[in-house]
Amino acid sequence: MSFEEIKQQDEAYIMHTYGRYPVALDHGKNATCYDVDGKEYIDMTSGIGVNALGFCDKAWISAVTTQLNKLQHISNLYYTAPCGEAAKLVCEKSGMKKMFFANSGAEANEGVFKAAKKYSFLKYGKGRSTIVALENSFHGRTLATLSATGQDHYHNYFFPFVEGIVFAKANNVEDTLSKLTNDVCAVIMEMVQGEGGVVPLDKEYVQAVYQFCKEKDILFIVDEVQTGMGRTGTFFSYQQFDIQPDLVSCAKGLGGGLPIGGVLFGEKTEACLSPGDHGTTFGGNPVVCAGSVEILNRLNDDFLAEVQKKGEFIRNQILTMPHVTGVAGMGMMLGVSLDVDAKEVINQCLENGLMVLSAKTKVRLLPPLTITRKELEKALSILANVLKTM
Ligand SMILES: *Cc1c(COP(=O)(O)O)cnc(C)c1O
Repeated sequence: MSFEEIKQQDEAYIMHTYGRYPVALDHGKNATCYDVDGKEYIDMTSGIGVNALGFCDKAWISAVTTQLNKLQHISNLYYTAPCGEAAKLVCEKSGMKKMFFANSGAEANEGVFKAAKKYSFLKYGKGRSTIVALENSFHGRTLATLSATGQDHYHNYFFPFVEGIVFAKANNVEDTLSKLTNDVCAVIMEMVQGEGGVVPLDKEYVQAVYQFCKEKDILFIVDEVQTGMGRTGTFFSYQQFDIQPDLVSCAKGLGGGLPIGGVLFGEKTEACLSPGDHGTTFGGNPVVCAGSVEILNRLNDDFLAEVQKKGEFIRNQILTMPHVTGVAGMGMMLGVSLDVDAKEVINQCLENGLMVLSAKTKVRLLPPLTITRKELEKALSILANVLKTM
């Protein structure tokens, strides 16, 4: 099918909830991909932080297809090996105790909310169920996660929202502690607010809220959906904040391109859910989990050190480019501030064979963690050339 045919079919039958770029992609290898006309692009988006190992990693494909040829799905009424194996690796790398598999980031956050509410109910009874989220956060598109998303432009039309969610100002200790009243069961935050414009939280802020929560037995939840799986240079981003959360949600990079989400339970919460409390048909699917095991085995200390190095390299190169006023973020999750229109830069990049993302007014970069030096140099030279013409 030609690009025009693909586009026409899409326009006719797909609900228009996305603003698509005028490109139809066909195939790819690591951080390089090709559209239906054979034009090459360097990918600095990884499908929004999903393709941690880039396009079509050989070992990942092998893990997925080996399992696919054995058994594709069998419901959570029976044991299969890959989901336990993936959960073990995540727990070992994070210091968390138990894992529940969901299918997306939003679902993982639904899971942490339910877990927090039940933990508090069992211990304190009714009336202690409020969740504090941060302004400028993003936690998903389902009703509860949308309700916990602290950005007004997501809040049109869909009233009434889920009640019992209160917003606090990110990086403002006084304001946040003032919201942590007796009715609060949990606080949720992203260590780097991704959709909010790649805004990292201050370590002192996170530490202060964490300590306060510990004293009051308020659960500390970290949304690692975008920041997790090595993206920031450590397995989870909270590991750079010297905290151990009570609940963690993860998704995106965990499946390397197949749909998956995860709720992680800490020491306090590891027994809070019982059979019947929560579930999902597809969660823990053996094919997805087999691919996840391959990713998790690859994310060792050397791999993570390499992520840090590549992140620094990208940051330093970009800081020398025209119109750049700053680079925020951690590891390979970066937001570039510009004194020109980011949307225009993104469109120009695409035309010149480079895919990048936006986040509010910034250009956001989430390259596959396996991007090679050569691919990076190509990408950065396209970006530099685009900025020079602005
Ligand atoms: C993407 C994202 C989500 C939602 O994940 P979906 O898989 O799209 O439901 C939640 N939280 C954060 C921080 C995200 O970046």
